[in-house]
This record gives sequence, structure tokens and C-alpha cells, in this order.
Amino acid sequence: THPDFQAAIPILKQIEAAGYEAYFVGGSVRDALLGLPIHDVDIASSAYPEEIKQIFKKTVDTGIQHGTVMVLDHGVGYEVTTFRTESTYQDFRRPDQVTFVRSLAEDLKRRDFTVNALAARHDGSVVDMFAGLADLKAKRLRAVGDPQARFHEDALRMMRAVRFESQLGFAVAPATQAAIAENAPLLAHISVERIASEFTRLLLGQDRNAGLATFLATGLYRYVPQMATKAKALAAFGQLPDTPIASAAVAWTLVCHCLALPVAATMKAWKQANDLNHLVQNAVGLLPKLAATTPWDLYLAGKAAVDVAAAAQAYLQPGFDPAPVQAAYAALPIHSSRDLALNGRDLMTHGMRPGPQLGQTLKRIEQAVVCGRLSNQMESLLAAAMDE
Ligand code: ATP
Ligand code: MG
Repeated sequence: THPDFQAAIPILKQIEAAGYEAYFVGGSVRDALLGLPIHDVDIASSAYPEEIKQIFKKTVDTGIQHGTVMVLDHGVGYEVTTFRTESTYQDFRRPDQVTFVRSLAEDLKRRDFTVNALAARHDGSVVDMFAGLADLKAKRLRAVGDPQARFHEDALRMMRAVRFESQLGFAVAPATQAAIAENAPLLAHISVERIASEFTRLLLGQDRNAGLATFLATGLYRYVPQMATKAKALAAFGQLPDTPIASAAVAWTLVCHCLALPVAATMKAWKQANDLNHLVQNAVGLLPKLAATTPWDLYLAGKAAVDVAAAAQAYLQPGFDPAPVQAAYAALPIHSSRDLALNGRDLMTHGMRPGPQLGQTLKRIEQAVVCGRLSNQMESLLAAAMDE
């Protein structure tokens, strides 16, 4: 057993000693069986939240309305979730209302893919109701039960399928893929944030191109922001070298560049954070100029964007060496207006009036320093400013 499970075994045993069932479930079981690092150990139990709270001294109500209580054990938190069903699905989304049940089988039935519907006892034995172990071995993503019904219940599962395909390097089973193709329009009912989270994880996965191919072949791409008319460019993007992409910034830079998308509007439409939006804007702007950048280009883009653009270029041009452009950035005389040996206050001390003209003068001085036409010393900068 995995060391992370090892530490949680006493929790399972304590729940059982109180007369209830408890299992490891979900992604942690799947990842442990695959020999992958596991993030969070999820525990499912027949005990209701109030009953869990009676068994353990220290608990936190992290998601009690969904049946989740966090059990604190020597400073480590374990999420224990009551077996539940999600019987009433509305608008093709998972419901907020859940029904607690006492049966593991009922709980496993509501899960999305067979490899995510495995449960493990504290002795390491596995409950495998849907042949998930065989699918795990075959590296196959198969919906639990009738795929049509499952994607109808919750359309996000279709994005989860292509995300897991990329993340795990699994293939989507034919009937499951056919059901995605048929139900792809239902994605329109899912919030952009949740779609974006799955899509970014697809982009960062080990088998990105396989995930993208299914995203394309099933027509899912038609129901996400900005991509409906980009089938051809998406296909080309899906042919880039399959080495994993290191960050969301590099991934979105490549997406915006390859699909010729307007960066600011796209990042907004995908509800991405402002700082990521700015970074990607700068990186995409720099990308086509990377072979012949001016110091001013590099300076305006900033270090983070230079690194992101260089990393992205390595996918567009295999063998691209990022070192020269990074060295050129490092060699800039200054890296920010804060580094300038002259500021607005200095100019005013020397008699210049505040206002837009002062700002323009400073900008010209800044550019001259960045491009090496002026050395960054107070005297020479002041002289140049007074000369204007
Ligand atoms: P990871 O943590 O790497 O994202 P995971 O499989 O643990 O993978 P979670 O989103 O953490 O994914 O969900 C935990 C478990 O809950 C899943 O393994 C699955 O059994 C179930 N699950 C999550 N989302 C859904 C869904 N939309 N429909 C059905 N079951 C789901
Ligand atoms: Mg998880």
C-alpha cells in the first residue's frame, strides 16, 4: 500500500470499529494502482456526517451539505464523505442536492468512469463493481453504466474524459466516445470556469495530443469559447511535439498563437485570471519576434513573458535554443522603470513642470537607456532630459 494510504488506515479502522463501512475511493485509488503520486486521499463511508463527527475528536465541516467532513489526525486532514447518490439531475449539471445512502454500490454507481469507481479496503483489497481494474490495465476510460445517460446527467464528464485521456495517457472506449460525440452540445450548459479547468489540465497532460484529437473528433471544441471555427488550427496545434507543457501560461500562449486568437478577449472569455491574461498577452506578442527581438521588445514583455515565449517557441521550432534570448534579456541595462537613475521627482527638482510632457520625456529616456543609447547615470540622463 501507498504511504499516504498507510497513514490513513487508522481512520478507516476507527470508522469500522464504530460499526460502519469505510473505503478509499476515487482518484487516489486509481493513481495508487497506476503507481502515480496521489494528491488527496478520499475516504467514503456508510456513516452519516453527524456519525463521523461522533467517532472523531477533531473534525471540520468542510462540505457538510455534500456529506463531507474533514477528520484531523495529528495535524493531517482526511476528507470523509458519506456514501451518496445524485438522483435528480437538472439542466445537465450535477445537482447541489445529494442523498445519503448506506450502500457502497450506490455510491460507486454515480461515479463517472470505471477507473474512478474503484474502492479499496484498509487491507488493500479492491472493490471492483464495474471492471475498472481491467480498464485500468487496458488504459481505457469507460463510463460507468450507460454512457448516454451519464453524459446527459452531467455534461462536464465529457470534458473530464478528454482531460483524463491526456493526463493518464488512456484511450476513451468506443461507446463512451460515441456518446460524447452525440452529447457534445450539452457542454453549453456547463460553466466556463469548470470547462476551463478541465481543458487546462488536458493541455498540461502527458498525452495532450490524444486528448486534443478526441476533443476535436467528438466536436466538444464547438461548445467552448472562441474555438468553434478553429478545427483546422486545433488539429495543427495537436500535431506539435507531444512533450508535456510546463505551465498554464505556456499552454495558453501556444493555444492563442496557433489558433490566431485575440489573446485578451480569449482569456476573458475563458474566465482566466488577469495576471495570466497579461502574461500570455506579452508572451504571444513576443513570440513571432523571438528570432530578432529588440531590447525594447524584451524590456516591455518582462522576464516572465520572455521565459514563457521561449518555452513556447521550443514546441513550434524543435531544437530552438532559449538561452540566447534569455541572455539578451538578462543583459538589458535596466529591467524596470524603477531601475532608471532618474525619476519624475528629479526632473521637477531641476525645474521641469509636472504633466504629460514630463512623462513623455521620461519614457524617451527610459527607451534610450534600455537600447543602450544613454548610460544609466543621473548626470547623463538629466543632461539628456534638459536637452529636449
Ligand atoms: P484528480 O484529483 O486527479 O482530478 P479525481 O478522479 O480524484 O482526479 P476528483 O474531481 O477529485 O477527480 O473527483 C473524485 C472522484 O469523484 C472521482 O474519481 C469520481 O469517482 C468522482 N467524480 C468527480 N467528478 C465527477 C463527476 N462530474 N461525475 C461523476 N463522478 C465524479
Ligand atoms: Mg481528486
